[in-house]
Amino acid sequence: VAVTVQGTVQGIGFRPFLYREAARGGLTGWVRNRTDGVELEVQGTPGAVEAFLDALHTRPPPAARITTFAVSHREPVAESHFVIAGSDAAGPARPSLPADLAPCPACRRELGDPADRRHGYPFTNCTYCGPRYSIVEGLPYDRPRTVMRAFPLCPACLAEYESPGDRRFHAQPVACPACGPALRYLDPHGRPLAAAAAALTRAVATVRDGGIVALKGVGGYQLLCDATSAEAVVRLRDRKQREAKPFAVMFPHPEPLAADAERGARAALDGYVSLGEAERALLTSPAAPIVLARKRTGPGARALAAHVAENNPYLGVMLPASPLHLLFMEALGGPAVCTSGNLAGEPLCTDDAEALARLAGIADGYLVHDRPIVRPVDDSVTRAVTGGPLLLRRARGYAPRPLELAEPVDGILAVGAQLKNTVALGIGHEAVMSQHLGDLDSVAAAELLAATVDDLLGFFNVAPRAVACDLHPDYVSTRYAEQLAKRLAVPLLRVQHHHAHAAAVMAEHGLAAALALAWDGTGHGDDGLPWGGEVLRCEGMQATRVAHLRPFPLPGGDAAARDPRRSALGLLFAHDPSLAARYAAAWYPRADAEALLALLASGKYAPRTTSVGRLFDAVAALLGLAAENRFEGEAAMALEFAAVDAGAVPAYALPLDGGANGCGRLDWGPLLGELLGDLAAHVSPARISARFHAALGAGALAAAQASGAGAVALAGGCFQNARLVEELTARFAQNGITVYRAVEVPPNDGGIALGQLLVAARRLAAGEGGTLRPIDELRAPGERHA
Ligand SMILES: [Zn+2]
Ligand SMILES: [Zn+2]
Ligand SMILES: [Zn+2]
Repeated sequence: VAVTVQGTVQGIGFRPFLYREAARGGLTGWVRNRTDGVELEVQGTPGAVEAFLDALHTRPPPAARITTFAVSHREPVAESHFVIAGSDAAGPARPSLPADLAPCPACRRELGDPADRRHGYPFTNCTYCGPRYSIVEGLPYDRPRTVMRAFPLCPACLAEYESPGDRRFHAQPVACPACGPALRYLDPHGRPLAAAAAALTRAVATVRDGGIVALKGVGGYQLLCDATSAEAVVRLRDRKQREAKPFAVMFPHPEPLAADAERGARAALDGYVSLGEAERALLTSPAAPIVLARKRTGPGARALAAHVAENNPYLGVMLPASPLHLLFMEALGGPAVCTSGNLAGEPLCTDDAEALARLAGIADGYLVHDRPIVRPVDDSVTRAVTGGPLLLRRARGYAPRPLELAEPVDGILAVGAQLKNTVALGIGHEAVMSQHLGDLDSVAAAELLAATVDDLLGFFNVAPRAVACDLHPDYVSTRYAEQLAKRLAVPLLRVQHHHAHAAAVMAEHGLAAALALAWDGTGHGDDGLPWGGEVLRCEGMQATRVAHLRPFPLPGGDAAARDPRRSALGLLFAHDPSLAARYAAAWYPRADAEALLALLASGKYAPRTTSVGRLFDAVAALLGLAAENRFEGEAAMALEFAAVDAGAVPAYALPLDGGANGCGRLDWGPLLGELLGDLAAHVSPARISARFHAALGAGALAAAQASGAGAVALAGGCFQNARLVEELTARFAQNGITVYRAVEVPPNDGGIALGQLLVAARRLAAGEGGTLRPIDELRAPGERHA
């Protein structure tokens, strides 16, 4: 029989697996990688062929994700073996490349085994683990198209690479101390101080002595310091110009590398955070992301330096994501702050010379190696909400794993929003999403956006037939998309921000239509105003606004994103101007207070917003929880955290009334009245915050019920808030309404590109954008199988 398989089937030991299965059944034939997947032919007894196909179906290698599987019969040919044939580089590229994967248990064992030839070797890997996306330059995924081509295999590695029974059979990044990459430790001027094991020892000593080490990780440089040393953590904050945003912390792997290691001497993760099953599963998954977990308190709890994540009941924790990290953390024996190697607001450094220049003055030493990084891939960030994962930042371990959609999005490129930018490329029914690129405020970030688009288009050999962007005219991504569409002479489709948020969740769950709550900071509305508390009925290519938060003025517009008190003043002003005057006088120097009140009174430079994110800011400011947003979402997070241990409380009133044009309006007036009453009565912030969250739950339910919806999609940055998600999910469940939320794509602006892709595809299919062939014609008949 002849078989073609598509999905994530390259770089995860798929061909070796097939070889072993064929050998088991005495089958002959061949297998080869193609740009769009894997193709093979086998012959043998009917029973053996059937067993082979069954194995392929029911127990493929762990990281494989088969999306397409087609079998056809062939006449028998004369052959005596099963062979792995050369790859076929012709033909259309299809996404079939996995993400970078953390060390598998077998590689971990070898690292700690003094008798193994890879004992202590920081670049060990096999078909089940190791670098992928960060080292590959083109498809199909074979060694000559990775940075590993610079490292010819030694005889021992070559034997493993060619031996079908070996775990490293056709493992493209295979390496050992004799033939593979090597470590070096450099001083801040780039002068080598030590090599190999000695380099690791020097770097660990630097961290132990309170220094900061720049470590060349999987997808870029990271900065590490002792997470238990207040002095080291404060120094890192100062040098990195990162005032308050929480740092992630890496812990040694829970299983020591050396069998005889003393467990007692190790700083166990469980001493610092309490982990549920979902958190544990995320931490130990091959993606090895950062996981937000509750800090432990009470007797027996161990604490890190306060400045790691201040005023925060959560800690971002991670386990070593590469053999180098495993060895480093094993030697350190305690927790280390592990943060992106960049200045705040800039992209990750990947190049050695660039790191030495850009991290000058930050790092006390550099732990580097000679395996190049093809593209920056930051650490992913996740949390578990109502038992399931919620991705907050999608990068290493996830990108560029394609998402299988229920409808075609072929040939469309979507460039995302301004903050937490990602881009998405449609190939057939699949969306390939780039890794998190970050905020586009810096020149370097804007360049990274362009480079990533070139990278994706080149990688999959796609000439886009349309470009999608946000409706906001001033986003860097919008301006880039305008130029790109012009250069390529293809249609540009502008997608409203909250429609895109909603469509991202619809794409992830295969929904044709949905009632969506799109709640976030702000996005450019159809009327040019800053939206952010929308209830949208999404059907086909349309989104109809059926309800929104009652608008309130934002003095200074965008400036309110950094100063939550401005949101509070706007809310108070709309409620009772004399209250706004009182708070302004208390919060600001007299001149500033007068200027802000003048903006509110004139209505100039005080656009009316419907943003739930700004409502969170306002309430946080009223409670005195945050006077500024030193990083995006700080005030909203403070408000979520205030209620973290609060039980059930009565909701403030957030009634739904009929606004203008038949559009419902969630009126925050009664909520604000009750909240000010609680404040005057010195009710605790925990209870006020809990009542506020409950009000949003009740308001959301009322809006959904008024629309007669049986299912609701939760979209937008507000749904990074676990309490809000849980509040809404519980209320909807009690009322028989199904909830869809973001799982593998961030609900924040990191998911915008996916939503843009879906909306653009639907609009193109409906005929927008000139004379285009129907999408179905772009696919060869029979190309796709369920
Ligand atoms: Zn492995
Ligand atoms: Zn070797
Ligand atoms: Zn948004």
